[in-house]
Amino acid sequence: MALVTLKELVQRAYKSDYAVPAFNIHTYEDALAIVKGAEEMRSPVILMASPSAIKHLGIKLAACIINDLAMNASVPVVSHLDHATDMDVIFKAMKEGFTSVMYDGSNLSFEENVQNTRLVVKVARSFGISVEAEIGRVGKSEEGEQLEQILTEPQSAKGFFEQTQVDALAIAVGTAHAMQRQEAQINFERVRQIQEVVDVPLVLHGSSGVPDEDLTKISKMRFGKINIGTILKTVYVKKIKEIVLNNPGLKDQIVLLKDASMAVTEIVKGKIKLLNSSGRV
Ligand SMILES: [Zn+2]
Repeated sequence: MALVTLKELVQRAYKSDYAVPAFNIHTYEDALAIVKGAEEMRSPVILMASPSAIKHLGIKLAACIINDLAMNASVPVVSHLDHATDMDVIFKAMKEGFTSVMYDGSNLSFEENVQNTRLVVKVARSFGISVEAEIGRVGKSEEGEQLEQILTEPQSAKGFFEQTQVDALAIAVGTAHAMQRQEAQINFERVRQIQEVVDVPLVLHGSSGVPDEDLTKISKMRFGKINIGTILKTVYVKKIKEIVLNNPGLKDQIVLLKDASMAVTEIVKGKIKLLNSSGRV
């Protein structure tokens, strides 16, 4: 269907009873498997390149893979740069055709985070690119390294949004990155307090760790974007191991990666169902 901006998709979702799934891509095969899952469910989808994907593919190739898949997809797709802390990376991503970027200033002071995010928003607006930023801090890095979680304060979220006017706001309300089990405890009271004072599509990171029933609950609140990454990596590698063990004579990596990626498609379809985004194209 089309390569679209984050703003376009999340604006629609947060006013309705669903959230748009955002999946981390790491290779061509898993990116293709995600789009396939979204197409089968007729769901809009956000493909995200995290710092580790950018390190592996480079900005140009990551943008090429996502944008090519988006342009040939039968559902709306956003190409999104995930967790960029470096301005250079953000501006290169804009130049290479990402339709959305996340500036992550969660390790900086409130003032520095505001200042840098404002600059990113100013440049992005002139290219019609969407911006996500984070206030508070989601626990652990994407690679699982320890980072202290700082729950988002409602008044900070309000002040941050008023000063930056981002298109989507990531908040810390109990999730952590790289969780292997669905044991995150969402602080729903904090979500409600934030939503009372800020009117912007919210983003939940670290959602592989969120129990199924809470994902559905969250999707009906004013969240626009739900980030899911870890579970796709875990399932993909597990399936590769299984195929290799069961087929000692296998000699073609295309067959291996294609067959294993079917497991990614199944997880994607399951999460889309939980987020109620099926048929929202
Ligand atoms: Zn994240």
